[in-house]
Amino acid sequence: MLEASSQASWIELNAPAVRANIAVFRDILGHSAAVPESAQQQVQLGVVLKANAYGHGLLEILPLVHPLVDIIHLISPRDALEIRRIEARNNWSQRRLLVIGATSPDEFCQLAAGGVEVTLGDANVFAAAQMLKNKGLRADAHVHIETGLSREGFFPNEISSKLGFLADSDSPFRIKGILSHFANTEDVTEQQYAVEQLSEFEKGTQAIELLLGANHPKLERHIAASAATLVLPMAHRDFVRVGIGLYGFWPSAETRLSAKIVLPQLPKLKPVLSWKCRSQVVKLLRAGSYVGYGCTFRCERDTRIAVFPVGYFDGYPRLLSGRAHVLVHGHRASVLGRVMMNHIVVDVTGMTSDDSPVEATLLGSDGSETVSAEMLAGWAQTIHYELVTRIGAHLKRIVIDQ
Ligand SMILES: *Cc1c(COP(=O)(O)O)cnc(C)c1O
Repeated sequence: MLEASSQASWIELNAPAVRANIAVFRDILGHSAAVPESAQQQVQLGVVLKANAYGHGLLEILPLVHPLVDIIHLISPRDALEIRRIEARNNWSQRRLLVIGATSPDEFCQLAAGGVEVTLGDANVFAAAQMLKNKGLRADAHVHIETGLSREGFFPNEISSKLGFLADSDSPFRIKGILSHFANTEDVTEQQYAVEQLSEFEKGTQAIELLLGANHPKLERHIAASAATLVLPMAHRDFVRVGIGLYGFWPSAETRLSAKIVLPQLPKLKPVLSWKCRSQVVKLLRAGSYVGYGCTFRCERDTRIAVFPVGYFDGYPRLLSGRAHVLVHGHRASVLGRVMMNHIVVDVTGMTSDDSPVEATLLGSDGSETVSAEMLAGWAQTIHYELVTRIGAHLKRIVIDQ
């Protein structure tokens, strides 16, 4: 495992913010349960801890969400198995875990043995079925329906031909649920494409129900990620899979706009993550000095700089060169010249009068100023999802719970 230097930048995680975001989603699902057609059954809250909990740190986020949610979704089978070990080590009760990502036949067996639910979404399921049977294992499984994202899943019209074996009495899969994933809920304020996907989802559900027969237990349906959970109540179904919202981010500006119309009150999502760094060097440069590789920045006047031991290796994008600012003593301090592999240089002129070290907030708030993940992502020509998931897994995470 990579380990960061003790001088490296670090991540602070706001535990109350995680709990507040969970409460926001519980509240929204409480409203949808009041809709007459689903009145008998409460919509359950599933969260997504893939990609190292969206870069926040799986090991740190897990203890905060584990007791408060109904089901946890992972991409990597390894993450699910690690969570089972953590539960055992800490004497926690087992939470429902569902792997929604690519899974090898061998991993299907390990998940089945660990009581982790699996997704049937690609051709690996055929070899997996054989291997599970050979080992005498059975897995709780969810069928992924392709409804228009053109990613994983089976088309409604290929279910009877490809998945017929699920109806066999010796099938190693106990089918518990059906899922799909929206393609275009975040980038729009009108949800026509999502409505079409819901109709494909319905077709897929009927095909599976037909295949499994009338005596099969009722299937759980789930299709909503954060955006649909926030703005498309008709998509809530039996449980939702909330990713980005758990970490306190709106999926997009469009989702936030839609929510103002759809919800009685705009929910307050609280960003969980801050990224901080202590300077390695503070010094005065004479007017005319150049800063960094390529000499892309030249000081117009005498300039006090702070050098921070953080760079693109840690996930601070090189596209932030000459564009971003960090916060020092509550002021915006410009990133000068290029972002390097392990260093950035910042203009702290007027913010400090000597060469003693200063602390920078790369992402988060200091006083009345904030650098949000959305701002950083905009400067780096990407989205906040990519920005946070790329924050180095090697960096230290500190959970702040007060
Ligand atoms: C990532 C993912 C989610 C969560 O999406 P958010 O927009 O982060 O809420 C839900 N379902 C699937 C299948 C995913 O891949």
